[in-house]
Amino acid sequence: MTTRAALPEGIEAAYQQVQARNPGEEEFHQAVKEVLESLGPVLVKYPEFAHQKIIQRVCEPERQVIFRVPWQDDRCEIQINRGFRVQFNSVLGPYKGGLRFHPSVSLGIIKFLGFEQIFKNALTGMPIGGAKGGSDFDPKGKSEHEIMRFCQSFMTELYRHLGEYTDVPAGDIGVGGREIGYLFGQYKRLTSRYESGVLTGKGIGWGGALVRKEATGYGAVYFVREMLKVRGDSLAGKTCLVSGSGNVAIYTIEKLAELGAKVIACSDSNGFIIDEKGIDLDLVKQLKEVERRRIADYAGYRKHARYIAGGNIWDTPCQVAMPSATQNEINGHDAATLVRNGCIAVGEGANMPTTPEGVRVFLDAGIAYGPGKAANAGGVATSALEMQQNASRDAWSFEFTERKLDEIMTGIHTTTYETAEEFGARGNYVVGANIAGFIKVAKAMLALGLI
Ligand code: NDP
Repeated sequence: MTTRAALPEGIEAAYQQVQARNPGEEEFHQAVKEVLESLGPVLVKYPEFAHQKIIQRVCEPERQVIFRVPWQDDRCEIQINRGFRVQFNSVLGPYKGGLRFHPSVSLGIIKFLGFEQIFKNALTGMPIGGAKGGSDFDPKGKSEHEIMRFCQSFMTELYRHLGEYTDVPAGDIGVGGREIGYLFGQYKRLTSRYESGVLTGKGIGWGGALVRKEATGYGAVYFVREMLKVRGDSLAGKTCLVSGSGNVAIYTIEKLAELGAKVIACSDSNGFIIDEKGIDLDLVKQLKEVERRRIADYAGYRKHARYIAGGNIWDTPCQVAMPSATQNEINGHDAATLVRNGCIAVGEGANMPTTPEGVRVFLDAGIAYGPGKAANAGGVATSALEMQQNASRDAWSFEFTERKLDEIMTGIHTTTYETAEEFGARGNYVVGANIAGFIKVAKAMLALGLI
């Protein structure tokens, strides 16, 4: 359940309408409320946003597609999943946002992610609108052939809604390079076009861009680096926790280590490992990226490491926490534990990983708190760089692309920091990200008329 706190005058009605129109979609309500809570001062400065009902319009997706995904498993049994694509806002560019394959996927989850994506994409400064999609398909335990058949069936419906100038999906939970390959292959087959720019996160050698795989994790670390810099501090020597052990977690760990921090724990949905000597990332990559095994197996290779089945990673003392698994993984109690144990910075690689109660704890404690909307925008920003390279038939070097990613993340930090200051909330990146993202979208919506 989302908690009820008073919303600024005039905005409460819009929020109630969202609740009434989208019953039972708790995560979507939570994401909307978190943005609306920041917008009171914006409507004072820009009364035209209220007159033109920008808030009400931005909360309603431009288009929502829900479809059947039939496929056959290896025993020739018919399976049926549900597919989604919520095309939320295209005022800044073609719809852009990942696809998530996870059994917890529902319309409300996709809407929360799509809503966040609008403002995140605006913060990157790139010409991309906001969308999200996915399916309640569970890739765990499926064979290679089953994954391929599912992806082909999923794309057989989705392709008609996509296009490099229309909607450009990427990966998210359960969708990595392998799945993007199968999805792209089916799109190509259905359309008879080699339209590289229709999906991002592609493999290097068939339209993919260097640094895309690393971008979300690296970018989140850059954001934390910038938050600490403002406080006259750095990542060097800091003890860190990173939840998850998927794409975002792995490259968060990699960049933290590169900048001199020590990551001592990571996790999956079954438990977490502690390695006081510092996580052996080559081992994690081998287990997760190559062999697709569970993080528990790590302890079998590093004798001094411990695996805590069903444990809570946030109970471990640290100075920097980077949630990189899923939504609402840090609640108010976890946040209080982190702060009590000496945590001074939180950078969200995952989307909405902290509950509203947890966010309040971080803000009240005055620690450096980088919300996902800003901190994990490096992934989609680098997807936009992949689109640029596809459009110009070019391929940039790793160093050049990483420098661009660093510039974009440093720019997002500056924008969110300065916007928070301008609106009287110094150091509050939640307010800074929500307001800066919203104003950019709202101004474009005004310019384009009643759409
Ligand atoms: P992956 O599928 O590569 O990895 C997800 C990781 O999180 C796995 O270790 C998984 O464990 C764990 N996890 C997933 N669901 C749960 C759950 N319900 N409870 C506990 N652990 C869970 O996904 P990504 O790394 O791509 O995504 C991680 C987060 O980052 C998501 O919130 C995503 O929206 C966000 N994000 C991703 C971007 C990207 O570029 N990929 C861009 C911006 C944000 P298990 O294997 O046990 O399920």
